[in-house]
Amino acid sequence: MGQIVQLPDELSNKIAAGEVVERPASVIKELLENSIDAHSQWIKIELEEAGLRSIKVIDDGDGISPDDCEKAFFRHATSKIIDEFDLFRVKTLGFRGEALASISSVSQLTLRTSTGDQAGTELVVHGGEIKGRDKHTKRKGTEITVEHLFYNTPARLKYLKTIHTELGHITETINKMALSHPDVRFECYHNGKRIFYTPGNGNLLQVIQQIYGKKIAQNMLKIENNSLDYNISGYIGKPEITRSNRNFISLIVNGRFIKNPAINKAIFDGYHTFLPIGRYPIVVLQIDMDPYLVDVNVHPAKTEVRFSKEKELFDIVKNTVYQTLHRQTLIPQGAKKE
Ligand code: ADP
Ligand code: MG
Repeated sequence: MGQIVQLPDELSNKIAAGEVVERPASVIKELLENSIDAHSQWIKIELEEAGLRSIKVIDDGDGISPDDCEKAFFRHATSKIIDEFDLFRVKTLGFRGEALASISSVSQLTLRTSTGDQAGTELVVHGGEIKGRDKHTKRKGTEITVEHLFYNTPARLKYLKTIHTELGHITETINKMALSHPDVRFECYHNGKRIFYTPGNGNLLQVIQQIYGKKIAQNMLKIENNSLDYNISGYIGKPEITRSNRNFISLIVNGRFIKNPAINKAIFDGYHTFLPIGRYPIVVLQIDMDPYLVDVNVHPAKTEVRFSKEKELFDIVKNTVYQTLHRQTLIPQGAKKE
């Protein structure tokens, strides 16, 4: 008799959750990505005890139709891609169809959603099992509440840090989302108190000010350039406002926040001698391109990507940063103050 068994869905979802859901901040990242993919213009986040007790994300997006509500919790079930062609041209933040299955397998989750043109749905899922379904009247949009995260995975629960640390990770996640989507209005409440908001008027500099403060916003230089395949835009900090670590470099590729040491290096090369030794710049760099030129299917957290025309990208980043800083130093002293 063979010894290999096909694991039941409940177990494989928990295994996937181990990768996708590390802490409350990762739940928030996935829920915000879903709200953005659903064309939301307003997203409200309500947290209790840094999300350890409860995380609620409310949006005014497309909503989920009654027929799809249960399917949304199946593993590898998605409305965002249908074939291999789409997988290599991903235009949305999500595409793996794993987040809701994973999150609901390690928490007690309530979904309330409506597409606006028919009765809404309420679905309760505990530890991956559907516990209840009801009609729900609600205006267009989706509300997902995640309570008691990791209640059924004690080892993961134990690994969570203090409220302070978890809130730090959450803030970082929301900041990244807000920087990548200045056209979306974000509001975040912690234990009933508003801790963050953005106006959602598309003005990236205002989001930068909201996150880093007025002094930094006033010392950012606008960048804009394009090559054959890449459009780059955003803001780079003047050399006077450097930082002691590279956490202040935000890279956004087609609206997705990513990590990429090679692009960081292109930025540093662009700053060249403008940067004091051991100091790092504040940068928000938006890179837009044909989705075909970037592979986002590298890691479950979707923060690593591979570019197919790297050299062209690194050159345009480096040259644009260099030229922007150089132009700035050529402006006469009196005009600089403006
Ligand atoms: P993915 O985002 O990779 O498709 P998820 O598990 O995150 O997978 O979500 C499954 C599906 O549920 C999505 O494809 C989408 O159709 C639907 N969905 C999830 N969240 C929302 C939301 N806030 N608004 C509208 N639809 C949503
Ligand atoms: Mg998703």
